[in-house]
Amino acid sequence: MESDVIVVGGGVTGLGVARDCALRGLSVIVVEQGDICRGATGRNHGLLHSGARYAVTDPQSAAECVSENAILRRVAPHCIDECDGLFINLPGDDEQYRSRLMEACRKVGINAREIDGREALSIEPKLNPEVTAALVVPDAAIDPFALSIANAIDAHRHGATLLLRHRVDRLIVNGARVTGVAATNLADGTAIEIHAAMTVVAAGIWGQDLLASAGVVLPMLASQGTMLVYGTRPCRHVINRCRVPSDADLLVPDRRVSIMGTTSVRVEENEHIEAPIPTADEVRAITAGAALLVPELATTRVLRAYAGIRPLVATDGDATGRNLSRGIVCIDHDKRDGLDGLVTITGGKLATYRLMAEQASDLVCGKLGINAECVTAERPLPGSDRPATDEMRPPNATERMAISRHGAMARDIYMRGAQSGALVCECMSVTRAEVEFAINVLGATDLSSLRQCTRLGMGQCQGRVCACRAANLLVELGCKTPEAALQDLKLFTGERWRGQQVVAYGTSMREAARARHTLLGLCGLQRANDNLLQRE
Ligand SMILES: Cc1cc2nc3c(=O)[nH]c(=O)nc-3n(C[C@H](O)[C@H](O)[C@H](O)COP(=O)(O)OP(=O)(O)OC[C@H]3O[C@@H](n4cnc5c(N)ncnc54)[C@H](O)[C@@H]3O)c2cc1C
Repeated sequence: MESDVIVVGGGVTGLGVARDCALRGLSVIVVEQGDICRGATGRNHGLLHSGARYAVTDPQSAAECVSENAILRRVAPHCIDECDGLFINLPGDDEQYRSRLMEACRKVGINAREIDGREALSIEPKLNPEVTAALVVPDAAIDPFALSIANAIDAHRHGATLLLRHRVDRLIVNGARVTGVAATNLADGTAIEIHAAMTVVAAGIWGQDLLASAGVVLPMLASQGTMLVYGTRPCRHVINRCRVPSDADLLVPDRRVSIMGTTSVRVEENEHIEAPIPTADEVRAITAGAALLVPELATTRVLRAYAGIRPLVATDGDATGRNLSRGIVCIDHDKRDGLDGLVTITGGKLATYRLMAEQASDLVCGKLGINAECVTAERPLPGSDRPATDEMRPPNATERMAISRHGAMARDIYMRGAQSGALVCECMSVTRAEVEFAINVLGATDLSSLRQCTRLGMGQCQGRVCACRAANLLVELGCKTPEAALQDLKLFTGERWRGQQVVAYGTSMREAARARHTLLGLCGLQRANDNLLQRE
């Protein structure tokens, strides 16, 4: 295979680079070892930073967030819940930090407003009643799956090829130049080579190993962050604790649920990086922090825990990674290592992915002598490129949920036949028609990709009911044999259980027991789901 550019990594950064390069007229092949969003992109907090969180400690990152926040609201509104954010002070907090934060926000251009505790409680009645003061900032919640899918769709529309479940084993080096990659198709074990004038490594934490295959040393620090999903949304705003960013001080709403986190723990073992596991200590720290921000969370059911790995390029001896810059790392390896044809783009944030993609694509175009401007700051993503609703017919509740996931693309979810509107997933209001849309239009092939496209399985029941129905649909629609669907159901419920077991106590334990009886008793997963049995 041949193209102008190979992008290694189907996270939001790689997909952003693919879209940007494709829009500038380059031929692009993206190689991703799993599904899109397999790495940090599918395992983060979903905060569209206003920049305030970094304004005091990292003004450069804060400034990047300010401008990208405004751009993404313009070009990707269907991925964003414009809920704003509060930085709240509780008794005992350093009150002076609030003044420093206010001043730092002013300097980098963040529109922050100071309010007293009473006003904070009138805006968010479920906050800790002892709140003394707060800053209101333009934080928002962003859906990383919808954002990534929209980038993938637009890259594909402009000619990019996405090779999923293909692992790049090494970079191909000829003299002082990278001329492509050697990869394996993980579905059938076939080895392939892809050749290109430029290779962009957007492989997150895995980037360092891949670069090592070409003799390039780029030390990265793997910092795990854990988050808990609470089954309700007590606050409309993003809630931050007003202090130097620390553990368990951030609550981000995500439609009907809320995500509380995070932590910063250095990890080294490869298996941990492949499948990050939240620890009981992290869960304890986060539940304590949640109850301080919003007391009712102390008795709210935690649906699951999940963890992601921050790929921080190590520049000093910091042990936890908390104090390293989360800034963008864009490397021209010709300049750095004397190896032409190779660019690395990593670090940064979900919120700054577009800027990262622009920087990497500028480098690529410069190398290839292409004189095409970046258009991604103006050009809306699919889903945000036309009105999502008709003025004449307001959407019903189920349609509103679909619009919140796909924006205007939800118009392409055709209701054909009496069963189209039947709910497959009650928690997330996913209809049979939306599942068909995800398979036919978005390219979903299994339960995991259906989850990314529709959020099926991510609600209160954690897939207990909807995963079984969806597995059945995959058979009915000709995507899987019954045996393959059962195997898929086993993998899916095993993965869901992985996130639940560390929070399985109290009401969550009761729900886990119900899930066990449904899956083992009703669905007959005894043999298929020995993984679940073992863990219990
Ligand atoms: C705990 C946590 C919380 C966060 N919270 C936020 C937040 O609230 N807001 C925010 O803006 N940012 C947040 N971030 C940061 C954000 O998630 C990341 O900056 C972003 O997702 C990085 O995307 P990426 O595409 O660069 O990397 P990844 O998403 O990790 O993608 C890398 C991809 O490369 C693939 N890959 C690797 N090696 C190979 C290979 N050899 N062959 C083929 N494919 C390969 C991987 O499978 C993976 O899919 C958070 C991160 C973490 C860890």
